[in-house]
Amino acid sequence: MKLIAICSALVILSTRAPALVVETNFEGASAADVKIDESAHSVSFRPAGDPMRGWPCWWYFKVSDLKPDETLTLRLRGSSALMPRSEPKAPLAASWAMPDQATYSTDGKTWLHTEPGKREKEWMIYTLKPGAASAFVAWGPPYTPETATEFVRAMSAKSPHAKAQELCQSRGGRPVPMLRVAEGDRPVEKRFGVWVEARQHAWESGSSWVAQGFTEWLLGAEADAAWLRQHAEIFIVPVMDVDNTAAGNGGKDELPQDHNRDWSDAPHWTEVATAQRKIGDWVKQGRMDVFLDLHNPAPGDKKAFFYALPADLMKEPMLGLRDHFIQVATQRIGEVFPMLDAPKNDGPKYHPLWRQISGTWVSMNGNPHTVGVCLETSWNTPSSTTTGYRSVGTRLASAVRAYLGERPVR
Ligand SMILES: [Zn+2]
Repeated sequence: MKLIAICSALVILSTRAPALVVETNFEGASAADVKIDESAHSVSFRPAGDPMRGWPCWWYFKVSDLKPDETLTLRLRGSSALMPRSEPKAPLAASWAMPDQATYSTDGKTWLHTEPGKREKEWMIYTLKPGAASAFVAWGPPYTPETATEFVRAMSAKSPHAKAQELCQSRGGRPVPMLRVAEGDRPVEKRFGVWVEARQHAWESGSSWVAQGFTEWLLGAEADAAWLRQHAEIFIVPVMDVDNTAAGNGGKDELPQDHNRDWSDAPHWTEVATAQRKIGDWVKQGRMDVFLDLHNPAPGDKKAFFYALPADLMKEPMLGLRDHFIQVATQRIGEVFPMLDAPKNDGPKYHPLWRQISGTWVSMNGNPHTVGVCLETSWNTPSSTTTGYRSVGTRLASAVRAYLGERPVR
């Protein structure tokens, strides 16, 4: 009798129109103030990031119980959380959370742009027709610590020249996946040192896709890629700030300082301290050759660009080599992605903690020939997709090969 009663209750439920369901119980998810309007097939929300853990601009969640032909409307407002460093206290500008096109996926693997959103006062409104019972929707193509773990494992399994490693454990106890690439029996001290890292700012998911594109090219069949593997030791860290990325926090400007303001003599973050030690070993061996720190810039930056120290703070040969590398990379990246002709300067006018920015720290503590730069790949353009980002990474890797090909082999 009991069973029959339960069955009839289920039947009654199943004859009612299915209700939209929003889920945020997975790695990297973020949505707050969620309200579902069944009749309008719409979900309104804000990013949920903790402002103490960086700019709350990242959002990412799953919507299910969609009908196949249903148009879903996403109504986004900026976070209302007051930023701890702002004076007077104010929320983050909503534009950081509002790409012209949002990103969605029905399988969690293939990420597509929505049509351009429409701004209506405080709201940004996106519509999409996923054509499936559920869809992930996000600020940009997600790339979580799990994605990074799977990627470095897959590359390690695919190529005998790649080995999945861990940079360290984060303060939150998470492993930080890293890939080491080196081919052949050239002694390690005779190899160029190339360090590639992304996501010192957790919300900048596109930068991890650039790191992935770099790696895919490096482990590919091209003779130039083989040359680079044979002449260099390359470390790739697709997600530095694993804790904030996993929690769906922004990371940028967090307290006490974000990862890319943490390159001091006493770093707070384990990832930074460990990276400094490994880079320091290369410096001692005279082979800290190329350091690449990957980011996404501001909403209005429609062209990619490098950040580099002002020339008056640099000596030769570092200055000439740095400028040459930027020239080689800009030319190559510019063929596949909109890019500024010249770098922008960081340094004292850019930020009071300029000495603690990774590229600066590596340049100032590096070898006389060290190239240490930050690449900002635009997130707010039609090209800011997994394909577009990976193509930037491909060209960046080929630029490293071209640049090192002109350097004396050890
Ligand atoms: Zn950044």
